[in-house]
Amino acid sequence: MKQVEGRIKQIFEQVVRRNPGEAEFHQAVKEVIDCLGPVLVKHPHYADQKIIERICEPERQIIFRVPWIDDHGEVHINRGFRVQFNSVLGPYKGGLRFHPSVYLGIIKFLGFEQIFKNAVTGMPIGGAKGGSDFDPKGRSDAEVMRFCQSFMTELHRHLGEYTDVPAGDIGVGAREIGYLFGQFKRMTNRYESGVITGKSPLWGGALVRRESTGYGCVFFVDEMLKARGQSLEGMTCVVSGSGNVAIYAMEKLQQLGAKVVACSDSNGVIHDATGIKLDTVKRLKEVERRRIRDYVQVHREAHYSEGGCIWDIACQVAIPGATENELDERAARTLLANGCIAVGEGANMPSTPGAVKLFVESGIAYGPGKAANGGGVSTSALEMQQNASRDAWTFEFTEQRLREIMSNIHRSCYETAEEYGSPGNYVIGANIAGFKRVAEAMLAFGVI
Ligand code: GLU
Repeated sequence: MKQVEGRIKQIFEQVVRRNPGEAEFHQAVKEVIDCLGPVLVKHPHYADQKIIERICEPERQIIFRVPWIDDHGEVHINRGFRVQFNSVLGPYKGGLRFHPSVYLGIIKFLGFEQIFKNAVTGMPIGGAKGGSDFDPKGRSDAEVMRFCQSFMTELHRHLGEYTDVPAGDIGVGAREIGYLFGQFKRMTNRYESGVITGKSPLWGGALVRRESTGYGCVFFVDEMLKARGQSLEGMTCVVSGSGNVAIYAMEKLQQLGAKVVACSDSNGVIHDATGIKLDTVKRLKEVERRRIRDYVQVHREAHYSEGGCIWDIACQVAIPGATENELDERAARTLLANGCIAVGEGANMPSTPGAVKLFVESGIAYGPGKAANGGGVSTSALEMQQNASRDAWTFEFTEQRLREIMSNIHRSCYETAEEYGSPGNYVIGANIAGFKRVAEAMLAFGVI
């Protein structure tokens, strides 16, 4: 084991050296490979064949210029990315993020996570991620359209239903997917529905895809609680964010009888002890594209705190549904002190390494994003299935499939953690289960 640990340390040092300045990517790699010691001991040929070293190097990275003109005639230049990380299990699959914080390190961390997340779903999809440092906030529909058209004018040549299938992520919702698909169709003269997911159900999208990341995350929490003889009924919950993931996590929590008392956006936190009114959040965020602070104009019983920390609000179940590293060690300590018994990550890597350590050591039910937020990409895979067979399933049938997939992800992580001597540790379970599926395919394909 000592020798294996030395080897893993060496691999990590090499990743840091070869990818300087990409802090989030380093963090994502470290979390995965720190779990792999027992796997290398059991399967020494993974080490001989340098599977980890190969996985850490993306198969292909595309960086491109995205020029566009705003409503006042001014020219802007953004940077576009697509990191095609791994395609042994299926076409590259993963979302696009439009946010000013985007740079190569963010896209690589997300793409790396996506490989293992997609693998644990059991669906035939590889791992990728893309996006741009473009900020859609405050931009008109026409500006967003021109940006999306310029972005796709370059990216289209790298995509295809058998090659690479993007979807949404932060800053990329139904509106952007429409503009992107419209431009892909123009550039290629092909109505290739399966080239992008998260489409509107009016033109080839899957029902439940919009709800699936949030719903899936709550199903995962429900499974973790069930494994401990508990249920969500009557639990007080806090959900960070108020985007697509947070809104539908809140909806499913409420449907399952839990009480959601807080949500947030990048400006501040809403605390509504009487229970968050979801219709208001949906109207503010999905229709009017406003800030969450306006919630208190409608619901005077609620309290808004500008720049507040949502994790200071006492809860039994916490769903980080906003963004990476939003929940640090201090916040984890507060949650645990306030009696939190379950955390389900709706966002990607929302807990810092220090927070993860505290959650795991405390023995609470902690579902890392790689397992808990896999419902979104799984439903994307269901959308690809429907597109391939030119079919459209009902909401009920699709939601049932999602439920089964989340239950399978849970079982696979749970059993893998037991097999490797860490019962109840879903971090180890998800990382090892995902890694093994990818590693076996890579071995079968030879040195690729
Ligand atoms: N962006 C989502 C994720 O982080 C969805 C990706 C997809 O549907 O391809 O998993």
